[in-house]
Amino acid sequence: MALKNAYLIDLMKTVEARNPNDKQFLITVRSVLESIEPVVEARPELIEKGVLDLFVEPERIVKFRVSWTDDAGKVHVNRGYRVQSNSAIGPYKGGLRLHPSVTEDTVKFLAFEQTLKNSLTTLPIGGGKGGSDFDPKGKSEREVLAFCQNFMRELYRHIGASTDIPAGDIGVGGREIGFLFGQYKKIVNSYDSVLTGKGVNWGGSLIRPEATGYGCVYFASEMLNTRGNELAGKRVLISGSGNVAQYAAEKATQLGAKVLSLSDSNGTIIDPDGISAEKLSFIKELKNVRRGRIREYAAAYPRAEYHEGKRPWQLAACDVALPCATQNELDLDDAKTLVANGCIAVCEGANMPTTLDATAYIQGHGLLFSPGKASNAGGVATSGLEMSQNAIRLNWNQSEVDKRLHDIMISIHAATRAAATEFGEPDNYVMGANIAGFRKVADTMIDLGI
Ligand code: NDP
Repeated sequence: MALKNAYLIDLMKTVEARNPNDKQFLITVRSVLESIEPVVEARPELIEKGVLDLFVEPERIVKFRVSWTDDAGKVHVNRGYRVQSNSAIGPYKGGLRLHPSVTEDTVKFLAFEQTLKNSLTTLPIGGGKGGSDFDPKGKSEREVLAFCQNFMRELYRHIGASTDIPAGDIGVGGREIGFLFGQYKKIVNSYDSVLTGKGVNWGGSLIRPEATGYGCVYFASEMLNTRGNELAGKRVLISGSGNVAQYAAEKATQLGAKVLSLSDSNGTIIDPDGISAEKLSFIKELKNVRRGRIREYAAAYPRAEYHEGKRPWQLAACDVALPCATQNELDLDDAKTLVANGCIAVCEGANMPTTLDATAYIQGHGLLFSPGKASNAGGVATSGLEMSQNAIRLNWNQSEVDKRLHDIMISIHAATRAAATEFGEPDNYVMGANIAGFRKVADTMIDLGI
């Protein structure tokens, strides 16, 4: 699909000129503009009032030096980022990513996506994202602590409980959130609800660790229901073995599906018997406590096979694919194999794991496809619930939070489908999510005065 509206074509040229090196950001902006083109055509005031010109430019980008010393006393320098994309409907909110691949482009595209995702959650939260090219892998706990403390020493100036509330993402789990929060609290001398994903002893919400993975599976179930289908009995391929993948596997198994794979950045395991709850406990201990590699699963469960350097999609046939690792991890060749093997639904747990040509192929062959901004929004939604609990200084129990999460995922699915149906393509969840997310932000921008 190419842009046809002259105003949007010009706008895209401006975005390209302003961000010449931000490849992923440009891909993301273009794909969103393509989706919302029918709304722009129907509502000329969006152009007259300059809503789109503002929407494609982050409100603020903060880029800073982070220095820390390793265990041998050597000084290292990394780059830290926080992109505050849009605060129309609430304070900026979005994760922090620690991975050597992180650049300004990564954080900018993720913050842009986050604005639409947060809008879909039904909660009053704007969009932001942050991170650093620091690699936590192979670092001692003291080194990770040193990095987190120095990262927060600069970040604290730009965030706040009603300004910007970061959370976890790749490389940032409960341990790192604890180190970051400890430093923030010390600097500002206040127990603010400034981060989510906190431990339950110090302001965290039950079900937050589970939320993204569970939410993704709840969304997949809703999609399957639209075709009179259900998850029970389905073969599921999942990529990744981190936070999102683990809990997507847990919920899919609880709902009666057979999870055949998990992976990490080194390779994939395929278990033809399915990854049961007991096997998943092994994975959680392996990845979260021992910080080991997925290949060790095959040594523990000999009927499983380990494939070095491979992603799951071409290794076994499945009914449902849940990419839950990272961006661009499911490409056109993978999509062709999924279609040829009879897959019926692809539901993104990660952010933009499916390349655009793969997405087009999957949609073009009649499979159900949901973009991460809709199907992985359960994480940020439950972060929003954590903020609510902090604000009223109460903790809801597990089933209460899970019920709210489930209801939110049902609402996101319904809103996405309704917007797609309104514009004549009921199964187009990409279009539906972009339109539903965008309209709320755009209307608020107009209400607040451009
Ligand atoms: P984790 O760090 O817990 O896990 C990431 C997993 O993906 C690990 O198994 C990791 O392998 C693998 N991985 C990372 N980079 C690559 C790569 N370049 N190639 C192949 N595999 C890779 O992160 P999360 O589970 O939290 O996040 C996963 C995805 O979900 C990300 O896209 C994130 O933005 C998105 N997301 C996460 C949310 C959350 O609540 N956590 C909320 C919404 C979206 P290895 O162990 O080798 O690093």
